[in-house]
Amino acid sequence: MGKIKFEVEGFQCERCQHKWIPRGNEEPSVCPECKSPYWNKPRKRKKKT
Ligand SMILES: [Zn+2]
Repeated sequence: MGKIKFEVEGFQCERCQHKWIPRGNEEPSVCPECKSPYWNKPRKRKKKT
């Protein structure tokens, strides 16, 4: 056996910047750190014109 490169995808919370590796393939519904359901939704500036 030789060396292999093992890459893991992870998530980062947009709210608290917490990073974690998911157990399965499903996206978590909330951030495990801050419990925010909007962890994957970056803040967008709404420009009112
Ligand atoms: Zn968070």
